[in-house]
Amino acid sequence: MAGDSKKRKLPLSFAQQEKRPAPVTTAALDYKGHTLYAYTALEVDYHCTQLLKDPPSTVGFDIEWRVTYKAGEAPRKTALLQLCSRRQHGQYQCLLLHIAHSGLTPALLQILESEKIKKIGVGISGDAHKLHRDFGVQCVSLVCLSEEANVRLCSSGNGRMPQKWSLAGLMQELLHLTLDKGTAIRCSNWEICPLSSEQKAYAATDAYAAVKLYQVLQGMPVIAAPPRAVETAPAPVPGPASPAEGAIAELTVPRHAVLLPLQPSKLTVYRLFAEQSVSMDSIASQRALQLGTVQSYIAEAMAAGYEYPWHRMGVPCHVLSSLCSHLRAHHKQGYRSMIG
Ligand code: ZN
Repeated sequence: MAGDSKKRKLPLSFAQQEKRPAPVTTAALDYKGHTLYAYTALEVDYHCTQLLKDPPSTVGFDIEWRVTYKAGEAPRKTALLQLCSRRQHGQYQCLLLHIAHSGLTPALLQILESEKIKKIGVGISGDAHKLHRDFGVQCVSLVCLSEEANVRLCSSGNGRMPQKWSLAGLMQELLHLTLDKGTAIRCSNWEICPLSSEQKAYAATDAYAAVKLYQVLQGMPVIAAPPRAVETAPAPVPGPASPAEGAIAELTVPRHAVLLPLQPSKLTVYRLFAEQSVSMDSIASQRALQLGTVQSYIAEAMAAGYEYPWHRMGVPCHVLSSLCSHLRAHHKQGYRSMIG
């Protein structure tokens, strides 16, 4: 037809703009395993004792706590602790332990302090650190999914740079599934007893996601040198005093005497991170910001002279430990530091 010949060809760049973006996967990770919820010390200890009868080598690990937005208010204690593992016949089981009500029981402590049970999570050293602050427990055998992912996904050969992965980011990257991160549930009252069915489903899915991602990663070859040479390092002396793998180092850089001005929205982000111990990932999803934006706001607060916690900046434990000792040696005062 004559009309067809009149049709103009669009410049390539223009034509590409007209194309719709590739559809984003909308299928969400669905946890179909068994969920056991306990809020009395008796029940918590019972479920943990059952788990220890056939101890899993790995558990998906996560914690939840109530976030408050009042400036200067101390962060709330950990309310819920989730442990997800693969049980007999390949069925998954998630323990939702409402430790705000039960406290830590002997069998639960045994799990947390067991070197034979690996605790898997994103930002797990931060979670372990919070548990240490809240309950005085020293969790050991911690595996950070972000580090596990970086040594399998990033190498100098493929040009991908190591990054600080979020649980949702890894789920999308490795399983092409979304993690349903409803802000309303995330910011809900995790101290309320009993928890709602939505809270339980959300909490169980997070811990399940961790154990699932670990399985996928275990099936992938390591293509980059790990951040710490575990195999070549001398065997750590066992005992609570040795800062072995999973030990928690804390280092806070104090605020300057004079603070530079900071925009209120940036100050809010900084306070959630530094005062409320909310992770950068959580802040990003709560406030509908990119993770990079959250990081840059926190960096601006640091530059403006606000106090900041080194141990929560995604620095690997071994680096942190040596940082602590160096800083202690060079600055007799001015740094609050502790190696757990
Ligand atoms: Zn969670």
